[in-house]
Amino acid sequence: MQRRDVLKLVSAASLMGGVLGPKQLAHAIDKKAVTAASRNLFKELGIRTFINARGTITAMTGSLMHQEVLDAIQDGAQAFCMLDEVQDKVGERIAKMVHSEAAVVTSGAFSALTLGLAGVLTGMDEHKVRQLPHLEGTGMKSEVICQKSHDIVYNKALTNTGCKMIMVESAAELKNAINDKTALLFFLNIEADKGQIGHEEFVRIGKAHNIPTMIDIAADVPPVSNLWRFNDMGFDLVCISGGKAMRGPQSAGILMGRKAIIDAARLSMPPRGFNIGRGMKVNKEEVLGMYVALEKFVNQDHDATWKNWEARTAKIAKRIEKLPGIQTLVFVPKLGNVTPNLEISWKADAFKLSGEAIAEQLRKGTPSIELGEVKSNSVSLTVWMMKPGEEDIVAERLSEELQKAKA
Ligand SMILES: *Cc1c(COP(=O)(O)O)cnc(C)c1O
Repeated sequence: MQRRDVLKLVSAASLMGGVLGPKQLAHAIDKKAVTAASRNLFKELGIRTFINARGTITAMTGSLMHQEVLDAIQDGAQAFCMLDEVQDKVGERIAKMVHSEAAVVTSGAFSALTLGLAGVLTGMDEHKVRQLPHLEGTGMKSEVICQKSHDIVYNKALTNTGCKMIMVESAAELKNAINDKTALLFFLNIEADKGQIGHEEFVRIGKAHNIPTMIDIAADVPPVSNLWRFNDMGFDLVCISGGKAMRGPQSAGILMGRKAIIDAARLSMPPRGFNIGRGMKVNKEEVLGMYVALEKFVNQDHDATWKNWEARTAKIAKRIEKLPGIQTLVFVPKLGNVTPNLEISWKADAFKLSGEAIAEQLRKGTPSIELGEVKSNSVSLTVWMMKPGEEDIVAERLSEELQKAKA
C-alpha cells in the first residue's frame, strides 16, 4: 500500500466518523511500513511496538529515521572506507552547516560531552590520552565548573574523564571557583532559565579566564538556528543528539566547535583503541546517516512542519473537547523538545479513572499507544513523533477510554 493510499484511507475513515476502528487504521499504517521488508522482526520476536505520543525518549528508541537516512545507511554499508576519512569529510560539511571550525560524529550527545572534555584535557598528547581517566600527577587539569541548576545525571559524561564537578550559583562564585585545575566551564541549555548566569555572560567569563566553554543542547532543536547560535555566540564546544528531533541514527550525536579541541578529542575515539572512548564507536553507516539527517533537517521547511504539528494537535483536541468535563491546553516547552504538546485534563471527580490508568489502558490496547506526562487528572501527548494518520487513532482511543471512565 502506498503512503498516499494510507492517508486517503485514514482521512476517509475519520470523515466517516470512524468506520475503521483504531485496529484497522493501525494495520493500514503498519502494513505500509513492512511491505518492503521480508520479515517483521518485532512480530517474530514478540516485541511490543507502539504509537509514540510521548516524544524522543531513549527508552522508547528515540525517533524514526527518514527514508533518506536509511538510504544513506544502506549505501554506506556497501563499501569499505577508512573510518577517519569518513569522519574528516563529513565533519567538514557538518562544520559548514553549523558555523563551527570543526565537527565530529559521536555516539550520541553523552559521548560528545566526554570526548570534548577529553580533548580539552589531553590536547594532542597521546601519552595523556592513554592516562585518562587518571588525572592525578599527570599535569592534566581536573575540574569542571557548572551552575548548580545545570547539574543533571548526564554530567556523568564529564566525570567519566576523571574530572570533578564544581558547583556554583552566581557569576562571582564562578569567577572565584576558577583556578589552575579548571579544565572547562559547562552550560546546560535546557536549564538556562534556572541559573543566574546566562549564555553570553558565561562565554564572556570563559574567554576572560582563557578556559574553554561547552554547552549541551542535546534535545534543543527546533529551532534549527540553535545548531549554529551557540557556535556563533562563542562556545568552544557544542554537543547535540543526532537521534532526537533531527531523526538521525539514535546512537549518533555531534560534537562541534574549535578545531584544535576536536582534533584532540578524536585521539580519544575509535579507530584508536588506547583511550576511554574506544567503546563509543560510530561506524561509517551512522556517520553518513547523521550527515544526511542533519542536512535534511537544516533544509526542511520548518514553518510547514510546525503548522503540520499544530493542525494534527488541534485535530486531537477538537475530538476530545467534545466530551463533557474535558479541557485541553496546547503548550510549547521553552528550551528543549520545543514542539506543541496537548494537555488533556478533567476535574478530579468527573472521571473514574486516573491519568495513570488511562495511560495504562492505551498502552494495553490495540494498537498500543505511549502517552506523555500523566497525572491523576490529566494526560499529555505530542504528535511530534507520530506517523501521519496516527493522530486519528490516538484521538479515537483516548475518546473511547475517557467515555468509559465517565463517572
Ligand atoms: C538526551 C540528552 C543527552 C544524551 O544524549 P544522547 O544523544 O542520547 O547521548 C544529554 N543531555 C541532555 C540534556 C539530553 O536531553
